[in-house]
Formats: sequence, C-alpha cells, structure tokens
Amino acid sequence: MQFTRLPHPSPTPAERRAELIADPGFGKIFTDHMVVIDYDEDRGGWQAATIGPREPLTLDPAASVLHYAQEIFEGMKAFAHADGGLALFRPEANARRFSDSARRMAMPELPEETFLAAVREAVAADADWLPPIEGGSIYIRPFMFASEAFLGVRPAKQYKFIVLLSAAGSYFKGGVAPVKIWVAQGYVRAAPGGTGAAKTGGNYAASLVPQAQATQHGCDQVVFLDAVENRWIEELGGMNLFFVRADGSVITPPLTGTILPGITRDSLIQLLREEGLDVREEPYSLDQWRDEAQSGDLLETMACGTAAVVTPVGTVASPEGEFTIGAGGTGQLTTKIRERLVGIQRGTAPDPHGWVTRI
Ligand code: PMP
Repeated sequence: MQFTRLPHPSPTPAERRAELIADPGFGKIFTDHMVVIDYDEDRGGWQAATIGPREPLTLDPAASVLHYAQEIFEGMKAFAHADGGLALFRPEANARRFSDSARRMAMPELPEETFLAAVREAVAADADWLPPIEGGSIYIRPFMFASEAFLGVRPAKQYKFIVLLSAAGSYFKGGVAPVKIWVAQGYVRAAPGGTGAAKTGGNYAASLVPQAQATQHGCDQVVFLDAVENRWIEELGGMNLFFVRADGSVITPPLTGTILPGITRDSLIQLLREEGLDVREEPYSLDQWRDEAQSGDLLETMACGTAAVVTPVGTVASPEGEFTIGAGGTGQLTTKIRERLVGIQRGTAPDPHGWVTRI
C-alpha cells in the first residue's frame, strides 16, 4: 500500500488552539487529513491508499449505503505520552473487530495490517491536533461504506474505507461524574441473530429514539434489555457494563451476539481478574440490579468504552422509579481500575500485556 500525502491544511491546529484548549468536546473539531482506500470487486479489490486533505465526498445518490445501510465503523483513541509521542491502545483489537463487522454486513475485509497502517499514518500526519489539555486525545474514526450506485438488494461491489480524526476532550459533560441511566421502554437494540455485535451504523440509528427518551427523563444514557425476555441487562447505547458485588464477584453480560464486544470490556475483565476479583461473564437482570443495589449486595456499576474509559453509574431510572447504586458516587473499584487503565493508555503505568503501541 502506497500512501500519498497531499497536505494543504486549513485552518491549522495553531489557528484553532484556543478552541482546542477551551473545549474540544467530542467529534466536532476534525483534523485536516484523511486516509481513503477504495475497494472495487471488478478491479481486483482494494486499491492504493491515499492520505490527503479532509474534504467532502462525491457520492452517487444511488450509492447503496444511502438505501440499505451497508456501513461499519470503529472508534479508538491516540494518547500523548510524557515524552510527547503518541500511542494507540490495542489497535489490533479494533482491526479485528472491524473485520468481524465487515463479515456480518457482507462487506469485504480490509487486511488488518492495512487498517493499522492507515490509522498510524493518519495519526502521524495530524498529531498536532492533540488538544494540549489534561485528558486530551485524538479520537480516530475508521469507517467503510458501500459506494456502488445500484439499487438491487445485494452486497455492493464498491466500497470506501476512510479514516477521520477529531480532537477529543471529555466525553460526558460532567467529566468522570456518575451518570444517570434510563431503562429503555418499548425498544430493544439488538435481537439474537441480528447485528448487535457488529459496529454498524444501523444499530446506532435504532438507539436514537430510546436515547431521546433517556434525555427527556433527565438521564445521560439509555440501558437496553434483551429482546427475548426483556429482562436481562445488555449494554448502554455506547458502553458495556460491569456489576461489582460485595462478595468479590464482578458480573458483565456475556457476548452472545447481541452486544458489542468492547475492547475496554475485554481489558477490564483482564485487569479485574489481576486484582483477584471473580469476574464472570453471565446474564444479570434488571430485577437483580435493583434488588442488589437496594440490599447493598451491589457496590458499584461501571460503564466502559473508548470514549469515556470507565464511568460510574450513579442512578438507574424507569417508569417504576429510581434506584441508586452505592452512595450514588464514584466507587472505589471504579476509581482504581479507571486509574490503572488510563495509566496504561497514557504511559504512566506499566503495560505488562503490551497493549500500547507507539506511533
Ligand atoms: N457498546 C457499544 C454499543 C459501543 O458503541 C461501544 C463503543 N465502541 C462500546 C460498547 C464499548 O466498546 P469499546 O470499549 O471497544 O469502545
């Protein structure tokens, strides 16, 4: 794969420095380059990669993604280390999940080494966009969509893979403050045999109405229950969950195909086991959540994902009322494990698993 760099940045990070320092927020300040790799079944598959200016795309209105939603994406971050260099956290896991998502959506798999090279090149080109603030990072958004102009319902023959970057500060407005969660009413995110384990746009489109319900009820995020019994906890709109119990066990919902296999989730399972906790991937019900929170058998609930790392769940609300977890604040284990993971990501704690890759 050949990378052709065509830089004509505008505006420069220096010109937007005040904004980067004041509030980069999430997903609104984009860097000035992007990687593009086209796929064409009739021209031998993947074409040469280019890195060029970030600019609007020209898309045929019949492009099949606009009609049948063949689209997948990833979300990952580059962090600054003390020596000023940038590092990625478990990028091979994102590359693998991208391939898994591609297979589920009948899309061609991008070779994982190409995915990794594209991400590395993009971050290296736009490293100056890292917000010069505590906790700042570059959020990386690799994605792929069906670009073929054809209205038949079948897998497209042409695709575009793109890597976009944006400056990121803190995901939730309240920083690491506990979040309030709304239990989805009348909507599910994914059903057995569906696309819940794939990182595909449609899953997120389907989550918007229940997420709006959450906002209407003064909550930050929505939690989805399973589609069959409407009883078991699945995940939040964009994060996985861990239930920390007084008996030293920690439960996280199992990967049965209806939840996203989070990379933070997988990392936490390993880190919590190293802390001597009995981590179990097994179903946990809403009733259990409420009962154990009220009896004190549940100490903490952690939500985890790339965007917000590890965030405490403080309160859970539904039409039946609210319940609070622990004292509604940030629990001890949440704080400890968050610090450990953030330390590994930012190069201030040992990395025995080799999770960090320098750019
Ligand atoms: N669940 C969903 C639905 C998500 O969108 C995300 C974010 N990618 C996660 C869980 C957490 O995954 P990760 O730890 O890989 O960011």
